[in-house]
Amino acid sequence: MTGRLPEKLQEKLSLRLRYYEDIGIREFFRDRVAPGGLEPALEEDTSETTVHSTHEGIETMSELLAPPPPLITAIPKIDEGTLQTIREDIGDCIRCKLHKGRTKIVFGDGHPHAKLLFIGEGPGRDEDLQGLPFVGRAGKLLTQMIEAMGLPRSDVYICNVVKCRPPENRAPEKDEVAACSPFLFRQIDLVAPKVIVCLGSIAAQTILETTRGISQFRGQWLEFRGRKLMATYHPAYLLRNPAAKSEVWKDLQKVMAELGLEVKKKSAQTRAQPLK
Ligand code: URA
Repeated sequence: MTGRLPEKLQEKLSLRLRYYEDIGIREFFRDRVAPGGLEPALEEDTSETTVHSTHEGIETMSELLAPPPPLITAIPKIDEGTLQTIREDIGDCIRCKLHKGRTKIVFGDGHPHAKLLFIGEGPGRDEDLQGLPFVGRAGKLLTQMIEAMGLPRSDVYICNVVKCRPPENRAPEKDEVAACSPFLFRQIDLVAPKVIVCLGSIAAQTILETTRGISQFRGQWLEFRGRKLMATYHPAYLLRNPAAKSEVWKDLQKVMAELGLEVKKKSAQTRAQPLK
């Protein structure tokens, strides 16, 4: 039987293929265009057609079109390519509505093999203009925090859950997080840090797949794909609530200990310097 796939099915299929491409499954696409591969087979039978994916687990057309599994558990560990590959995959992104208001995509910045990776929420005004994460007021505070840990900012990697500025600095919405987070997970896998620090509830809730408030688990060691993860308050929150700085400093001291950085307990310097 020849003929085109119904439009709805085509649309569903292309969304699904795009999803796999976003999470870095390239072999899948090689098969899509391979002679004798997916496309001719599709024209014959769309029910249980074998899809020759080299990614295990996707075998038939009905499996391919089934609703995707939960985002994070669905994403395999990907350690191929470079950060540049991920940036190129993002391209001049229009995957969600945030693209309409952005000036620059804020991909991430820092050491490509950093031992410590910070995740924020999304770019603000300064970041949107400069195309770099955490360069505004909250960013200056984050830089001080990193330096107080005994590290130059260039030794860590910093990125965000969403890469385009939400209007009026509102929290990113579910669909925006869903569209952008595959790239964040790929960044984490590639940088392969020893410790991840989530700054604020959006980062922590996205990574940990929870709706629990951050104050319920901040300061505790958690895990993400076998890496140690610490959630702490966002620097923007600290600008509004300076009293919380001491809590954050305690969290960062745990991170320092884990990274083998000197934790100067009770020294005047430790008390006075961080998080001003
Ligand atoms: N706040 C964030 O969460 N990320 C930035 O890059 C800047 C401010």
